[in-house]
Amino acid sequence: MEPLNPEAITKGVQSVLTKIRSAEEKAGRPAGTVRLVAATKTVTVEHIAGAVRAGLSILGENRVQEALPKIAAFTQAPVHWHFIGQLQRRKVRSVIGLFDLIQSVDSLDLAREIDRRAEEAGRQQNVLLEVNIGREPTKAGFHPDDVVRSIPMMAQLSHTCIKGLMTIPPLTADPDSARPYFRQLRDLAQQIAALDLPAVRMDELSMGMSNDYEVAIEEGATLVRVGTAIFGARHV
Ligand SMILES: *Cc1c(COP(=O)(O)O)cnc(C)c1O
Repeated sequence: MEPLNPEAITKGVQSVLTKIRSAEEKAGRPAGTVRLVAATKTVTVEHIAGAVRAGLSILGENRVQEALPKIAAFTQAPVHWHFIGQLQRRKVRSVIGLFDLIQSVDSLDLAREIDRRAEEAGRQQNVLLEVNIGREPTKAGFHPDDVVRSIPMMAQLSHTCIKGLMTIPPLTADPDSARPYFRQLRDLAQQIAALDLPAVRMDELSMGMSNDYEVAIEEGATLVRVGTAIFGARHV
């Protein structure tokens, strides 16, 4: 991989945005229905700034410690932050109010802690529920059956708004092999939407990364999380 330079990042952003538009078109979806979340783990503030100038507006971070100084560096910029990594309960208090969306709520306990801390802060926190759609033993996320079982409890949390689902499907070399998982996540969202619970919306499906975001868009993704295709391979 070439060392990162501003031109490469600008080209990366433009190329991903262009491919998102064509995938929307191919899927017969209106332009702008899919939003790009740049996965910025290990990427420096300087490189993120270049990507923001090139047109990015949603940044996704995985680790609280790494995210806090970056968020502080962009308080004057028109950007929104999403949390996309595993969130420890003891860190919840420090993230309330900083992230427009916590995409990676993977347990009822975590949802309750978010709700408690959001209430303390006098805020509403938007979240997605992370689903382990491939039922992989080592992966974070609700088991697909557990999410259906737990959601009525989460629907009662008064300072947490559930906006949809997120998943990281099993890693495959061929993007098309992820398609059945994306479909399953969409079906699960429809099943949950049919429960018609107050304060539970299934508007967002966060699925698709660098190697398979176009397939995810064909299957209904509204948020794609892309790192490598914008910033190049990570070295750490
Ligand atoms: C790193 C990361 C991505 C982006 O992965 P790429 O393959 O680099 O596009 C997406 N989602 C999550 C949760 C990540 O941690």
